[in-house]
Amino acid sequence: MSVHEELEKIKRRIIEEKIPLHEGATNVVMGKGNEQAKIMFVGEAPGRNEDLQGMPFVGAAGKNLDKLLAAVGLSINDVYIANILKYRPPENRNPSPEEIISHTPYLLEQIKVIKPKIVCSLGNYATKFFMSDCNPEKMNEQPGITTLHGKIKEIEIHGTKIKLIPLFHPAAIIYNRKLITLWEEDMKIVKKELEQKNFY
Ligand code: URA
Repeated sequence: MSVHEELEKIKRRIIEEKIPLHEGATNVVMGKGNEQAKIMFVGEAPGRNEDLQGMPFVGAAGKNLDKLLAAVGLSINDVYIANILKYRPPENRNPSPEEIISHTPYLLEQIKVIKPKIVCSLGNYATKFFMSDCNPEKMNEQPGITTLHGKIKEIEIHGTKIKLIPLFHPAAIIYNRKLITLWEEDMKIVKKELEQKNFY
């Protein structure tokens, strides 16, 4: 089965298994980009535009992410982008612990299929999830993105070693000059890691 077919299979399972939040959603939001990318970006949850289009990061945060990636010479053809939650929470509220518990197994399956070498977690939720060894029950014990951004951590997902690089969420930095500067510094670290020829 090709990577694309495997991802489609995961998507069908998400729909069939009627996970929390499916009732109020228009579309499941799985991922977009290069399904064989070495680098994957993981955000929080779909917003209104993402729900309507069935595609992550297509609203204001997505436009900012495109701009921030372009600034370091990356495009959607180089990366794969997904979220912790596969359906939009009502009124874009924060994900609940139960929702994270029921949605993240699909994210881990996506990662298993795509096999990225680097995962950039965008913002607090994604960062705390990966930092807690993908155990949502332990997310609260983790420090936040302000402490962790730009610090590389080696993690293992389904037996595959991955470099986790936490970054600020693109929505948080739209109008914040100070955070944009920090993002730019963090992206230098990401680029350096990407340019390494020998991943594990
Ligand atoms: N859009 C997404 O798909 N994810 C986010 O985290 C924010 C906006």
